[in-house]
Amino acid sequence: MRALHVLQRAFVRQIAFTCSARWRWTQSRIFSSTIPEKHTPSSAMFKHLTSKIKATGPISVAEYTREVLTNPVLGYYVNNDMLGPDGDFITSPEISQIFGELLGIWCVSEWMAAGKPKEFQFVEFGPGRGSLASDILRVFSQLQSVLGGTAVSVHLVEVSPRLSGVQARSLTGDHNQVSSSENDPVYRRGTTGTGLPISWYRNLEDVPKGFSIYLAHEFFDVLPIHKFQKTKKGWREVMVDIDPEDVDRLRFVLVPAPTLASSTLIQADESREHVEVCPEGGVVIQKLSSRIAEDGGAALIADYGHDGTGTDTFRGFRGHKPHDVLTAPGTVDLTADVDFSYLRRLAGDQAACFGPIAQRQFLQNMGIDVRLQVLLRNSPDAATRAQLNRGFDMLTNPAKMGDRFKFFALLNHNRLAPPPPGEKGKKRAPGPLPVAGFSELKV
Ligand code: SAH
Repeated sequence: MRALHVLQRAFVRQIAFTCSARWRWTQSRIFSSTIPEKHTPSSAMFKHLTSKIKATGPISVAEYTREVLTNPVLGYYVNNDMLGPDGDFITSPEISQIFGELLGIWCVSEWMAAGKPKEFQFVEFGPGRGSLASDILRVFSQLQSVLGGTAVSVHLVEVSPRLSGVQARSLTGDHNQVSSSENDPVYRRGTTGTGLPISWYRNLEDVPKGFSIYLAHEFFDVLPIHKFQKTKKGWREVMVDIDPEDVDRLRFVLVPAPTLASSTLIQADESREHVEVCPEGGVVIQKLSSRIAEDGGAALIADYGHDGTGTDTFRGFRGHKPHDVLTAPGTVDLTADVDFSYLRRLAGDQAACFGPIAQRQFLQNMGIDVRLQVLLRNSPDAATRAQLNRGFDMLTNPAKMGDRFKFFALLNHNRLAPPPPGEKGKKRAPGPLPVAGFSELKV
């Protein structure tokens, strides 16, 4: 507990004041309700989807989402830089530097709780514009006194070549290069501005094994979901088809017979009428849990979501406004709330699960109030102070991102094991460190 306090204090009070000018007020993706918009049937993506449907029949919502978001040529994520005021949505790391700084502290505290392994891989899924990683790496570098002598390396799992370029510029300047071979699992590598080796991968399997702290912020919500509706005849899958009355339009249909997905993905005791399941997210969780069990480490997953109660949450965003999910595919961000109860189930016994807890609670447990006060005290001008306050409000206000965003962690079981009984006459070893963010820490 003391070690964690020292870390907290070193961070929230002493880290040099560096205020990024990133924050600008705009809409995050949590707000739903869909505004239909005029479709653009002539787009290459629309043609690609309709030719697929014409060839094989209606496609699952998961296949639709996979094509629309990550098709290697036409996909939304592959071609766009969608984050920020000029894009389609904004995320917490883009809103306030404090968010990334507190997550950086979380990573270091879990590394400490694991006994300070000599090698420490920081792995981030879907790093967007690289803002979260940049804030975290600043914390690592300012905690040199704690991390010194440890071989820290940075590993980014990113499907988008376009965004990997944005991340590389932000994190390395010019110190990176794209692999000359298409088959190289490390498709880009370099050295961060703080001197750490950094590599980019398309898949988790390509990231080297070893003690790692994994981070996924607004990553699971973009993984494809299957949608199911309870009917009198049992569960049926919702699919995407061409509208027979307007061939320039797509529509949802209910498949009359069970599909492989509807027969295998619904729990026997399911009580909801409409369910969304993200098997790809389940696979990532299983891989993460087994890596954590074998090599040590932890994963922190932050996203909007529910604990097995959500129903129809699939939605689209364009230009910071809700957008019909089937209209203008490839130009719209698609997302669904993360079902944390499903992730917990898939983690099984391999890892200990914490959360989900509300973002507001997590950030408060991590010391966001104190950190804000330090930054405010050191802020040179009123505009910066107002910006810091607005960012804080957006992240923690229950009516904004404070409640709908949740934090969920996977930890190695040994991390939580009680200490072995001490030798006779010797002082008993202290118990395991509390898990930062999930329990209240008094700084
Ligand atoms: N974490 C960032 C960005 C969130 S947007 C933030 O919070 O600001 C989703 C990110 O995941 C983007 O970087 C996108 O390119 C990436 N992504 C989407 N699908 C992916 C997949 N299947 N594999 C790896 N990265 C993916």
